Amino acid sequence: MISAKYINKKINLLKNDSIYSSLTLQNKDYLVELGSKYNFSYQELRQLMIISADFSMWKEKSVSEYVSEIEKSLGPKADKKTVLGAVKRKWNSLKSAKIKYESTGDRIKSRPKPRKVTLSDSKNEVFGMCPVASEKTVCCNLMTIDAVQGCSLGCSYCSIQTFYTDGKISVDKNLAEKLAKIPLDPNKKYHIGSGQSSDSLAIGNREGVLDAQLNFARNNPNIILEFKTKSDNIDYLLRSNVPNNVFVSWSLNPQLFIDNEEHGTASFNQRISSARALSDKGVLVGFHFHPIVYYEGYELDYTHIIKKVVSMFDPLEVAMISMGTLTFIKPAIKKLRSTGLSSNVLQIPMADAVGKSSYTKEIKKEIFGHVLNQFSSWHDTVFFYLCMEERSVWESVFGQAYIDNTEFENALFNSVSSKMYSLESV
Ligand code: SF4
Repeated sequence: MISAKYINKKINLLKNDSIYSSLTLQNKDYLVELGSKYNFSYQELRQLMIISADFSMWKEKSVSEYVSEIEKSLGPKADKKTVLGAVKRKWNSLKSAKIKYESTGDRIKSRPKPRKVTLSDSKNEVFGMCPVASEKTVCCNLMTIDAVQGCSLGCSYCSIQTFYTDGKISVDKNLAEKLAKIPLDPNKKYHIGSGQSSDSLAIGNREGVLDAQLNFARNNPNIILEFKTKSDNIDYLLRSNVPNNVFVSWSLNPQLFIDNEEHGTASFNQRISSARALSDKGVLVGFHFHPIVYYEGYELDYTHIIKKVVSMFDPLEVAMISMGTLTFIKPAIKKLRSTGLSSNVLQIPMADAVGKSSYTKEIKKEIFGHVLNQFSSWHDTVFFYLCMEERSVWESVFGQAYIDNTEFENALFNSVSSKMYSLESV
């Protein structure tokens, strides 16, 4: 056994880490015990701390349970190297395997608390580039409006909740004025997404947030404005005169995934019923299959939901369909890990994706290819694209890619705007 003073020094260093704070008392104590038993270095203990946090988020057996199984099977051969190696192999094998989601009966109980909507008087710019766009990926040059900060929907993979932790949702007090001052070139076309740091419809028209954006669209016919949501909060839009350069898109996923990872959102059926209702009013709708997650049974689940979408909509009513998956930057992984939430979104291979961490290209080809194939009857009439993916992934899924982001931007704008039809007739 190593002296308590020596091991405490290393554990004290770990205590400065937010991941350590998220561990249960039992897991913290076990790290001390393991450190003392095998004389792990600080770096090795840090690795075990990360694995311990992951196992508990994934509802796996604890590191302590795995280590006792390993010790039992290795007997006297169990030493620092073999024990750490076996724990890491288990961790890596779980990250390469499909996630096993269980059907949850407690969805309602785990809904996040609603947040208080407040007005903010910040000097922040409301107009900017898509925050995750990159020159290294084939990107659509989306511009965004940051009208609202914070979200109550509580999707476990979303970093918005880790940035806005004050329990509030704030609406920019001067939103309408700031929107009016955006220096748009009237000779240019813009695809603008609302909801950079929030869900576009979750708080409805509180503090006039939708009115301000609808007016902005009305005053700028050279833009197409997209409200992106996982809610069914469409009442205000149903009652409003929605300009024909506005469209509404839903992020869609199978109900099993929604139950496990998107706790406060509308169900799949509520989302597509809302899309149907706005479509009946003459509003163009779109669907984002993002994030598509590689879990046991995903093939059948996606086949089922896509069949439903295809049966409920005419492709002429659908602006676009995008596909994307889980892609993380390192600080976001750390923040999500530090939440200690029950979630499997970090149970992915963390393969390099032009500097970010995601699935391997082989898995991406499989999941995107599967979703795209289910839409075969819509391939010629709906605009399909990948979000945040590099050229080689585009080529493996579509057989080709846009020459550059400007070509992609123009193709998307022209396809979507050609489907925007007048609402006057409705
Ligand atoms: S493809 Fe996705 S990440 Fe890239 S600019 Fe468009 S929305 Fe943003």
